Amino acid sequence: MIFETHAHYDDRAFDADRDALLSSMPENGIGCIVNVCADVESLDTTIALAKAYPYIYAAVGIHPEYAHRITPDLLSEVASLTKYEKTVAVGEIGLDYYWNKEEDHKQKQRETLRAQLSIAGETGLPFIIHSRDAAEDTLTIMKDTIKELPAGGIMHCYSYSLEHAREYLNMGIYLGIGGVVTYKNAQKLKDVVAYAPLSQLVLETDCPYLTPVPYRGKRNSSLNLPFIAQEIAAIKGIPAEEVIRQTEENARNIFKKIRA
Ligand SMILES: [Zn+2]
Repeated sequence: MIFETHAHYDDRAFDADRDALLSSMPENGIGCIVNVCADVESLDTTIALAKAYPYIYAAVGIHPEYAHRITPDLLSEVASLTKYEKTVAVGEIGLDYYWNKEEDHKQKQRETLRAQLSIAGETGLPFIIHSRDAAEDTLTIMKDTIKELPAGGIMHCYSYSLEHAREYLNMGIYLGIGGVVTYKNAQKLKDVVAYAPLSQLVLETDCPYLTPVPYRGKRNSSLNLPFIAQEIAAIKGIPAEEVIRQTEENARNIFKKIRA
């Protein structure tokens, strides 16, 4: 079965057909889905999805774009939601300097990331990191904190250099590979996938975004994961079935709260 490590099914893009789509996942080979909080409201909607579908699990956290909305109460809420039996990770958390380049917002993002990594460390849950236009600061914080994060985690939608990939892999961190790997102009990511051991890659869509070829531009869903597995298989010169099997095993190693 295919393990989807990063989806946003509480996104408005799924309002029209969410239940029909999610109900069709098992018959299409998608056996496990981690729905990841994308904003503050998503804390509730992600937990609701995990409660509604046996094969959906929750990652709870505050996305860096909402760092300005962080309060001690909100951090306590994240911490308390980690206790829910189907919460399997803290995420997505991280740094995103793409939209807001003001230094005080960046500072707030770094504080928020460190605070949520502490929650991951204290609860023994893995992290799911979102990082955009913040390669150096992200690597610095991860190197600084990885010893207090025994459950490890995932660099979601990995988009940085091979040099940084090597550093993350050496720390035991997994790389989340999504639709971007199928894009013609994604040579840097293809090189990372060629270099990284299959034992440290996981499949993800980040749906409704980042739809792989041949459906690029349309709404994404976990049903497109086979295209990503096929691309990784082609890069590594191995069968797609091996990619699917090993990435499921990797995901189960990370999300230990999910029973086989
Ligand atoms: Zn995401």
